[in-house]
Amino acid sequence: MERARPSTSRRRFLKGAALAAVPYALLPEARAGAQDQDVDYPAAEWQPASRSNYTVSDRPVSYPLDCVIIHVTQETYAKTLAIFQNPEKKVTAHYLVRSADGHVAQCVREADIAWHAGNWDYNTRSIGIEHEGWVDRPAYFTDALYEQSARLTATICARLDIPKDRDHIIGHYEVPGTDHTDPGPHWDWTRYIELVNLA
Ligand SMILES: [Zn+2]
Repeated sequence: MERARPSTSRRRFLKGAALAAVPYALLPEARAGAQDQDVDYPAAEWQPASRSNYTVSDRPVSYPLDCVIIHVTQETYAKTLAIFQNPEKKVTAHYLVRSADGHVAQCVREADIAWHAGNWDYNTRSIGIEHEGWVDRPAYFTDALYEQSARLTATICARLDIPKDRDHIIGHYEVPGTDHTDPGPHWDWTRYIELVNLA
């Protein structure tokens, strides 16, 4: 009888280990990158947001993911990173793309829920990408920004099985209940969706 106990606890341990392994199995590419540099997108620079500005989760196990939400910051790149790192601000996106060169920072893991849509349902089911610029200053929407952002969105869609179309790659202004207008009238959606599909 004495032998049964270690055997039972070992079974329990193995079962727990198997359950814990599920999200890793579902996201092999993402987790492989994360081992080295914490990012889900290998080309991104890891610039972690304050833990007070997002919800830890294990998507897509906890919530299915079915859209990418495009934002414009209305701030500089540096100021946006500072906002994400400020625990008082209560706002984040998963990624931030710099205007001048298309450099990509990842601030929140894709498995976690960033606070960017202003709508909990849309936060749970989306990846949020911020772009440095202002809705009324189209000069910030450089070729580099479009190209690098499109490449990022293409890999997100491929990895999470999200269709690369306007029903699933949406603007913040299209989130129900929002009063935000970003990315605004100067964002070239036709060009962007084309680039995402070519990437
Ligand atoms: Zn926005």
